[in-house]
Amino acid sequence: MKTIPYGRQWVEEKDIRAVVNVLKSDYLTQGPVIEQFESAVAEYCGVKYAVAVSSGTSALHIACLAAELGKGDILWTSPNTFVASANCALYCDAKLDFVDIAPHTYNISVDAMKAKLYEAEKNDSLPKVIVPVHIAGQSCDMEQIYHLGKDYNFTIIEDACHAIGGSYKGMKIGSCKFSDMTVFSFHPVKIVTTGEGGMVLTNKDDLYQKLIRLRTHGITRDNQFMEGESDGPWYYQQIELGMNYRMTDIQAALGLSQLDRIDEFIVRRRELVRRYNELFSDFPLTIPWQYSDAHSAFHLYVVRLKLDKIKKTRKEVFEELREKGIGVNVHYIPVHTQPYYRRLGFSCGQFPEAEKYYEEAITLPLYPSMTESEQNKVIDSLLLALQ
Ligand SMILES: *Cc1c(COP(=O)(O)O)cnc(C)c1O
Repeated sequence: MKTIPYGRQWVEEKDIRAVVNVLKSDYLTQGPVIEQFESAVAEYCGVKYAVAVSSGTSALHIACLAAELGKGDILWTSPNTFVASANCALYCDAKLDFVDIAPHTYNISVDAMKAKLYEAEKNDSLPKVIVPVHIAGQSCDMEQIYHLGKDYNFTIIEDACHAIGGSYKGMKIGSCKFSDMTVFSFHPVKIVTTGEGGMVLTNKDDLYQKLIRLRTHGITRDNQFMEGESDGPWYYQQIELGMNYRMTDIQAALGLSQLDRIDEFIVRRRELVRRYNELFSDFPLTIPWQYSDAHSAFHLYVVRLKLDKIKKTRKEVFEELREKGIGVNVHYIPVHTQPYYRRLGFSCGQFPEAEKYYEEAITLPLYPSMTESEQNKVIDSLLLALQ
């Protein structure tokens, strides 16, 4: 029996031809396709600059470095996310803390953020960076977070790894209208893929210059950033410590080809979501809550089980679905409850909304190539599992 996965890429002949063309060309990496892919994403999102990198994780890392996050600084993020959103603080030797989620959106709670900032100001422990995560593809309330950023002087890095193709108040996620930088991932389960890959977007010239250096060892070939004079046309200078986080042209070709179909992918995801939502209206489930002035990219379709209305545990429902070949998943185990983070001093009970959500959440299969009969199988199996 073939399992219906919770998410999967959609690669077509045209994508394959684009990759093969690069393989036959002169440049496998640092060639012309990277820039084409960056320009195409920047244009799609309505942002000035885009810097392609090797993964969403490396994108978060150099975004934090560009924000000059370092020893003694503090980064806040949501506990309801993939561990990478938190790990980036520790890569920079900074301290990490979390802000609990809002009960209906499952995104970082702006009210909790406000209260925590107020306290942090009194204790001289304000964050330098906040990383709001657009969970499942739905934007956080960025306008409010932006205003808090102005009041308390923190840098905002949107973790939009789930959210390329979504929009917020009429602007594409990635526009950076209400943030300093936005980060995407192009992992195969995400909205569009490059195999592995990521991107940092920004409207700020200085951040852009830093990001392109940090992606390549901290090296510059631009005279205006050098100390002293250039020795000649071969010359470069390393002016800070960067990494090799480059994306290859092979990957960029796949990304560029995929980007042509992003709107089609999103439309299909929304159709599937609409159908799930309609058919689940009588089920003992909470379906995803949506803002009226934002459109989720629907990377994930998460339902919460109304555990007081069913006679089973989440684990039993989950196992029954897996046995039937439904590749359900859970997003996310609250990051602060991971053993590594507990060793850093976090403990269960600290972020109760994220923990309660985790007890009830199940991610159902959702991907643009999903057929109606696959979706029917998920719905029928879930109906049985809930009985
Ligand atoms: C996937 C993901 C990442 C990491 O992206 P990679 O490309 O896998 O490194 C970071 N944050 C969130 C919320 C993600 O879903």
